[in-house]
Amino acid sequence: MHKSHVAIIGGGCAGLSAAATLVDRGYAVTVFEAGSQLGGRARTVAVEESNGLLHLLDNGQHILLGAYQETLALLKKAGVSRKKAFLRVPLQINMQSNTAKSVFSLKSFNVLPAPLNLLFGLLFCKGISLNERMAALRFMQGLKNTQYQIARDLPLERFLINQHQSKKLISFLWEPLCLAALNTPIAKASTRIFLNVLRDTFSGNKKNSDFLLPRLDLSQVIADPLSHYIQAKGGIVKLNQRVRAVMPENNGFTIETRQEKLHFSHVIIAVSPARVEKLIETLPKLNHATEQTLTYQYQPIYTVYFQYPPGTRLPEVISGLSGSIGQWVFDRGQLCGQNNIISVIVSAEGKHQQLTQDELALRVAKELNRAFPALAKPLWHKVIAEKRATFSCEPNLPRPTNRTLQPNVFLAGDYTYPDYPATIEGAVRSGIHCANLIANI
Ligand SMILES: Cc1cc2nc3c(=O)[nH]c(=O)nc-3n(C[C@H](O)[C@H](O)[C@H](O)COP(=O)(O)OP(=O)(O)OC[C@H]3O[C@@H](n4cnc5c(N)ncnc54)[C@H](O)[C@@H]3O)c2cc1C
Repeated sequence: MHKSHVAIIGGGCAGLSAAATLVDRGYAVTVFEAGSQLGGRARTVAVEESNGLLHLLDNGQHILLGAYQETLALLKKAGVSRKKAFLRVPLQINMQSNTAKSVFSLKSFNVLPAPLNLLFGLLFCKGISLNERMAALRFMQGLKNTQYQIARDLPLERFLINQHQSKKLISFLWEPLCLAALNTPIAKASTRIFLNVLRDTFSGNKKNSDFLLPRLDLSQVIADPLSHYIQAKGGIVKLNQRVRAVMPENNGFTIETRQEKLHFSHVIIAVSPARVEKLIETLPKLNHATEQTLTYQYQPIYTVYFQYPPGTRLPEVISGLSGSIGQWVFDRGQLCGQNNIISVIVSAEGKHQQLTQDELALRVAKELNRAFPALAKPLWHKVIAEKRATFSCEPNLPRPTNRTLQPNVFLAGDYTYPDYPATIEGAVRSGIHCANLIANI
């Protein structure tokens, strides 16, 4: 065991990944989590119906990708069985219109290696003309030739138009992928970051482009196993302990919560960017340096859950909606045994934010009914609104480094991983990187 004792502020994916990596290297760690549960923006919440029935629902329907290598390796280390935890769906996009027609469908050719699996998928996709398919193929080939790099970042929609991608192609293929990956409207989204995601998803192993859909509650897949792992190796996890201040003292730092003051050699601040400022007020070097980098805009994600009568089943576990405010639809019965529960993701900003939650649910229920006319009237609904789900992933966004100007204080979190949008993988990589910086690896 090292003499160092590392305080980790925030028990989301970034903080837990840092802690799990440090305990492996023999460091003493204490994770401070302000909330009553771990997981941060990737967690399960208990929702009570008016009749007292309790549902365990994720704060947002998450999609992981086969390309999330660090996350998958970390979960494996924590004993998560990939087969039990995830349904692996080879890339397929099925866009359903509001007239119950499939307007676009693309299925990767799983027998072929990457990127041929996607190229053949594009060549044979349904819903766009041969010219449009060829334009998509040329576009992908061009990206491969330039290794998915661009000289100057610009909004994705502008870039796609410059690349001769038609309106239909943008709205059926690129826009849904942009919303799923960056949670930012395509007119604002960063092309560079989108291409990084495309690169990691569509090059290398063909499994990188698989969707991994959690079959268990999100907390059971990520936060709980990581927490058990950390504690089994001697780490301390403190819930309901919001850190109020970090003060440099006696060659280290005093961490102050409402309940106590404790001393540490190192600190990893693993909270969302909006919460960093308050924590660094007492660290003047940091305060000044991060002032500019942390002024982000945020994007919401609404997840609308519906309970339908017994026997409800959608044609696919996951489908896309075209021309609707809802974007992706999941049959949670097929996915995780929550029979007759359907969830719909409404990503990024939009007019839907002006609706009340009941109005939003009603609108989305109508859209579902038009796309899948066999659906009966929902019996119950619940909207989970995450107003600051992710930072708005726009061109040339400043991203702070994990190492700060204050020796032995590090920043972790999805926003610090410069290659990616706000994702679990970005958060995990940032946490592991902070741990490696402390361990000098
Ligand atoms: C609805 C929704 C859907 C999403 N869908 C996807 C998806 O499909 N795929 C994907 O990869 N990503 C998705 N994301 C993004 C992903 O969840 C986040 O990028 C990731 O969880 C961020 O982890 P983090 O550790 O950086 O931050 P957070 O999860 O925000 O963790 C920060 C933690 O710090 C705690 N904290 C804050 N202040 C203090 C304090 N003073 N003291 C102690 N603790 C404090 C918070 O309570 C929180 O637990 C989604 C996010 C949302 C909200």
